[in-house]
Parts: sequence; C-alpha cells; structure tokens
Amino acid sequence: MSILDQNIQKLQNLLERFRSDGIPNRIAGEDRAGSAGSFDNTSPVDKSLICRVAQGNADDIDAAANAAADAFAQWRDMAATERRKILIRVAEGIEARAEEIALCECWDTGQALKFMSKAALRGAENFRYFADQVVQARDGQHLKSPTLMNITTRVPIGPVGVITPWNTPFMLSTWKIAPALAAGCTVVHKPAEASPLTARLLVEIAEEAGLPKGVLNTVNGFGEEAGKALCEHPKIRAIAFVGESRTGSLITKQGADTLKRNHLELGGKNPVIVFDDADLDRALDAVIFMIYSINGERCTSSSRLLVQDTIRENFEARLVERVNRIRVGHPLDPSTEVGPLVTQEHFDKVTSYFDIARQDGATVAAGGEVIGEQGYFVRPTLFTNANNQMRIAREEIFGPVLTSIPFSTEEEALQIANDTPYGLTGYVWTNDLTRALRFTDRLEAGMIWVNSENVRHLPTPFGGVKASGIGRDGGDWSFEFYMEQKHIGFATGQHKITQLGA
Ligand code: NAD
Repeated sequence: MSILDQNIQKLQNLLERFRSDGIPNRIAGEDRAGSAGSFDNTSPVDKSLICRVAQGNADDIDAAANAAADAFAQWRDMAATERRKILIRVAEGIEARAEEIALCECWDTGQALKFMSKAALRGAENFRYFADQVVQARDGQHLKSPTLMNITTRVPIGPVGVITPWNTPFMLSTWKIAPALAAGCTVVHKPAEASPLTARLLVEIAEEAGLPKGVLNTVNGFGEEAGKALCEHPKIRAIAFVGESRTGSLITKQGADTLKRNHLELGGKNPVIVFDDADLDRALDAVIFMIYSINGERCTSSSRLLVQDTIRENFEARLVERVNRIRVGHPLDPSTEVGPLVTQEHFDKVTSYFDIARQDGATVAAGGEVIGEQGYFVRPTLFTNANNQMRIAREEIFGPVLTSIPFSTEEEALQIANDTPYGLTGYVWTNDLTRALRFTDRLEAGMIWVNSENVRHLPTPFGGVKASGIGRDGGDWSFEFYMEQKHIGFATGQHKITQLGA
C-alpha cells in the first residue's frame, strides 16, 4: 500500500467518531449540542461531508462565557508550578497525537501533510514555550519614591475570547490559547466554521492533561452569530483575533459597548524585494517557499515580488520553471507541495483573480487554471508585467498566487513596497549591508527578514502595522495582552497628607 493509501486508511478510522457523533460544543467540560442546530463540514479534497458541527449562537456563548468566568478564580489562583505542569502535559498530549492532528487538519483545510505535520508540533512548542514563562508571568518592578515603596505586579485580565481562522487553524489556536492559559486567563474559543476538527482535538487533549473544567471552552459556529456574541459578551474581557482586516474592524465595533481589549492579527500583501546583488539562488528558493507553501493561505506570505529590472528577465524565467514544477495533489500524499483551497467560496475568490489579472493587462506567466472538478485545486500561479496599482498587487488573494513587479532603484522599491494598506511582513534580499539597514528602517512592516524566509522564533514580537493588525504575540508581548499591570504603593513613613476641612 502506498503511503498515501495508508494515510487515507488512518484518516478514515479517525473520522469514524466525527461521522457518527458530529462535533458538539464543549462547555464546562461537557459536550453540548448547538442552540442554533448544526451545519455541514466538508472536505476541500473531494467536497464530501466530513461531519455535522454544532452551530453555536448567543445562548451557547453565554453558557461558555459563564463557564469561563466561574473557572477563572480557581485557574488564576492555582500555583504557577501546577499550571505549568498542566500546560507541559498539554504539549505532550499534542506530540502524542501529532499525526492524528495533522491528518485531520489536512482533510479539513486542504493543507499538505508536508507542512501540517510540522504545524502540529509547533502547536506543542507553543504550549511548552509559554508553560516555561508561567512562573515569572506575574513578576513586576520595584519603583521606590521618597515616601512610598511602589511595586508593580501583573494579573490575568479574566476570561478571554479567542477567534481563529481556517489557515493552519491548530497552530494558530495554540498560539493564542497557550499564552492566555499561561497568563492565568480562561478561554472561550470560537474556531473558524470551515475547519472545526482540530479545535475539538485540542480541547480534548487539554482536558485529558488535567485542565480544569471550564478553563477552555469551544463554541463552534459562524462569525456573525457566535463570533459576534463572543465579542459582545460582558464577561469576556478581551478578544484575541486572527483573520481578515475587515473582520478585525467588525471585532472592534462589536466590542465597543463592553470596552473590549482587542488583539488583531490581520491580513497582508507582503513584499519580497530582490536586489541584483543578492544571492539569487537562495532568494529564488525563499520567494517560492513564502508564497506557494501552505497553499499560499498564509498571512505572512510574500505575495508581491519586487524584482530589480537588471535581473528581472532571468529571475522570472527561473521562477516560471520552478512554479510549473510544484507538485499539486492530495494533501495526504507526503510528496504534495500544494493541496486544494479551503472552501468553494475561497476557491471562487482566488480563481477570480485569473481574469482580473488579464483584464488589468498583466501576464499569466504560470498557472492561472483550475485542476479537475473533484476538489478545489488550482495551479500555482505567477503574474508578471504587473504594476502596483493593479488589483492583483493591492488585494490579499490568499492563495498560491504571486504578482511580480519590476523596479529600478532602491527608492522606487521602497515606494512600491510601502504603497499598500497592509504592513505585516517584508523580506529583503541584498548583500549590501548598509542598504539593508537603510531599507528595513523605512519599510512599513511589523516583521522583516533580510536574506531569509519567515523563520519564527517565539521570543520575538509577531504582528503587523497599518491594516495588518494591532498588538504583538510572542515572548512577554503575549502576556502584556492577557494580563493587567497593577501598581501598589506602600507608605514607608508618616509623609504629610494634605488635610482638607481640618
Ligand atoms: P475571517 O476574518 O473571515 O474569519 C476569521 C474568524 O473570524 C472565523 O472564526 C470567523 O468565523 C470569525 N468571524 C467572522 N466574522 C465575525 C464577526 N463579525 N465577529 C466575530 N467573529 C467573526 O478570516 P479567514 O478567511 O478565516 O482567514 C483568512 C484571513 O486571516 C486572511 O486575511 C489572513 O491574512 C488572516 N490571517 C492573519 C494572520 C496574522 O497573524 N496576521 C494569521 C493567519 C491568518
């Protein structure tokens, strides 16, 4: 039996339970049907039904928010060393079930196993990393003044909502949930409606690891119903959100009445700038990796290639050759590099840009076609002869689609790179050190890599500027979001207190 057939067999066994029981909500450690009924979850590989999923609404969110509020004091006050142990056990549980998580994720989202097997393990890494920060998370400063000994401490903000998208959903969920739990917050998680499978596995693993009931609750459902109710709930103190920029704006509005603190990780139209003095072999590898891996459904993808006109012809020719060789196929085949797009809606969106590109006068140098009718497969696509005013250069396509734009000078490259509403990442390829320093200083992006693809290091700040987001994840920045600073001043003597009415 081929490895693909073996993986399909394993997956069928794993899906059996979802087929018979569906995916219920998980509230206060109990399975509950959705108050609004249930909806179909289908696979992008062949459009087949995977299972029915509980459709949560404001009633379910209310139950989950109450459960999170009830569990908060116990979780907050648990000894940090004990909380740490539980979070490490969650990491171990993820590692033990990494294959199950990866197979389910691939079938649910269309992402290739090549990348999802690592994504599951990165989820475990997130739990381990933040577990190791638990003990010092509440530490503060001592700021002595003439009359007072001032101390600061940090306390968890309270129950929080986590709303996640469908691209690499397991990894992204752990990215939010792990620091929230490590900070001492309790969580209501609303996963994306298109990819509910691994959110269910996560809450199971967490409870098996000893997480007390109600500390992590999962409510499935649609954004405008369950997601909106979560943003509006008065007992939810903050919303950690990953998704589109326009949804981020809705999150802010919906949370206004209850004065929510929001952390928004949003879209991008990230530039990769290749100067003619760069190591062009490595630049080519990175350009390809950063747009065609993870189906191009990646917020940090470099979807705009800015290539210096002196090397453009040759670089684009090499690009076309490689893009045409990218292996599109079944996501459970270990050799597959690009799988199907997540949903019909997303497939329609991505493929609409094939015509938009032609109408705007760009050249479809590679791809620009769908593959078969069984699932949502498209050919990896490259647009050339583009300029930065075209829609293919301005809008986030969020698929395996790259737009190449030429430039002649450093100043022009910078102007094009910054001429976008977004500002998540930037990638600069040059061997001129002073240019790299100058350029990165003026590039409008939250994260920049020089002569490198995106290599995530958890202690560094992750987040965007402009329409790409507000707030940072990683290191202590995560705790800044999930915790409140508190100041306490102790009088050190009998300092004069101004007397009124004496
Ligand atoms: P989306 O905004 O459509 O949905 C994300 C989540 O928000 C889903 O769970 C959805 O149900 C929920 N939602 C939708 N409307 C809502 C509302 N009114 N109130 C509350 N919740 C609501 O995004 P998507 O299509 O699932 O994901 C793709 C997007 O995510 C892309 O734009 C991508 O760039 C972005 N993304 C950003 C990052 C980052 O770190 N910056 C990471 C991954 C993905």
